[in-house]
This record gives sequence, structure tokens and C-alpha cells, in this order.
Amino acid sequence: MADLELRQVVKDFGNLRVIHGIDLKIDHGEFIVFVGPSGCGKSTLLRMIAGLEEISGGDVMIDGQVVNDMPAARRELAMVFQSYALYPHMSVRKNLAFGLETMKVPKPEIERQVKQAADILQINELLDRKPGQLSGGQRQRVAIGRAIVREPRIFLFDEPLSNLDAELRMQMRVEINRLHRRLGSTMVFVTHDQVEAMTLADRIVVLRAGRVEQVGSPLELYNKPDNIFVAGFLGSPR
Ligand code: ADP
Ligand code: MG
Repeated sequence: MADLELRQVVKDFGNLRVIHGIDLKIDHGEFIVFVGPSGCGKSTLLRMIAGLEEISGGDVMIDGQVVNDMPAARRELAMVFQSYALYPHMSVRKNLAFGLETMKVPKPEIERQVKQAADILQINELLDRKPGQLSGGQRQRVAIGRAIVREPRIFLFDEPLSNLDAELRMQMRVEINRLHRRLGSTMVFVTHDQVEAMTLADRIVVLRAGRVEQVGSPLELYNKPDNIFVAGFLGSPR
């Protein structure tokens, strides 16, 4: 568990500024959802937090420490992507264990972690299967399991459910909620799906063209959107 702070974070791709000085404080254990239309900078922001993308200005801070130059592997966070890049030739068990093995974690500890993740996500029966023998939802569970075994301080999710059909998405929303309650970890979740944002978030950050348009609880944004853009995205019809 950790807190996270962005101070005037900027991102330029060449001459194009795509993130325009974002300030944001995220508390220990908070579930934050970034929403906004395609191209508004959600993934870029998440990747800068993860250390997968250099920042062009400002500071990213974890637990009060500036981490701008800290490599991704040392930030103790885990990212789950839309396309669950599992290793196709490895069993589910091996997929879960692999990252820890490369980090030279002792075997009994790896077994404990894998069992715990499998229990949480109810994938115990799938441990000896290969990814090709799993449904989309099961694969996404394994991808989340791979994040859990690392016991990250912060979970970052980049539209992890958008490849799933409506019913599975709903199920996985419930599971991610349960996961958050159980682990109490700080979670930052990116989506362009309003329902996902409303049901998962402690606070929603509405992004538009690389700027924060409004931050608030789902109810605040729904009942008191600051402007038409937020209302159109999340607010009640008026
Ligand atoms: P979102 O995830 O909200 O759809 P992105 O963060 O992927 O948005 O992209 C934000 C903006 O940055 C877009 O205009 C996109 O075209 C641009 N962008 C993203 N990655 C790169 C890159 N590697 N090079 C140049 N432009 C990029
Ligand atoms: Mg994106």
C-alpha cells in the first residue's frame, strides 16, 4: 500500500504536448479511476506512473519520494493491461510464478504467493492449464493474478476489461471490487466505460485532452458535474 502524487506532470511527444501539467494526490488504499475519451492521455499518464514512459516535466511521487528516475522494476507496482500478455507455452501456475522466479524469490514463498492469488481469484482448478485452454475471462483473472503475486504497493489497470463481453465485464467488476477490499491496495484504474468508473471508484478523475476536468466521488460527479463535458460523460441527464 502506498500513496501517490503527481505534481505538474507534463508529457510531450516531440512537439506535441499530450499531458498539460497534472496535479493529483491519491491516498493509501484509494481506488482511483481515470476516465475520458480515447486519446485524452489515460494510458500515457498510467505509464508515467509505472515508469514505462519518461516524464517531460513535473514529479511523480510514491510515498513522498520522487521516483522520476526510478526504473519501473523498482517502483513496486504492478500493471494489468487490456491485452493479457500471458506466456502461451507456460502453465497458469508457471505464468503466476515466473516473475517471482526471475526475482530469485525462494520457492516456498513463490508457492505461497501463487496459492494465495489462485484462492483470491478462484483459479485453483486452472493452474495446470495453458493459456490457450482458458476463456477470455479466465485469462484476465490469471493476468490479475500475476499482478497480485508481486504484492505491489500500487496496482495500475489499463482498460483491463474492455476485451470481455458485457456479462464477464460485470463479473470482473465485482471481483476487482472484492480484490480491493481484501488487499486494501492503492489502485489506479483506467477506463472509458462510465459504468465501470461509477461502480469501482472512490474518486473519479475526468480527463480531457491531457488536462484534469474534474475530480470527485462518483456521486459528486453525477450530481454536480462542473461542466457539460463531465455531465455528458458521467452526469445525470438534464
Ligand atoms: P488514451 O489512453 O486516453 O486513449 P493515450 O495516452 O494513449 O490516450 O494517448 C494520448 C495522446 O498521446 C494521443 O494523442 C496519442 O496519439 C499520443 N501518443 C501516445 N503515445 C504516443 C507515442 N508513443 N508517440 C506519439 N504520440 C503518442
Ligand atoms: Mg489508452
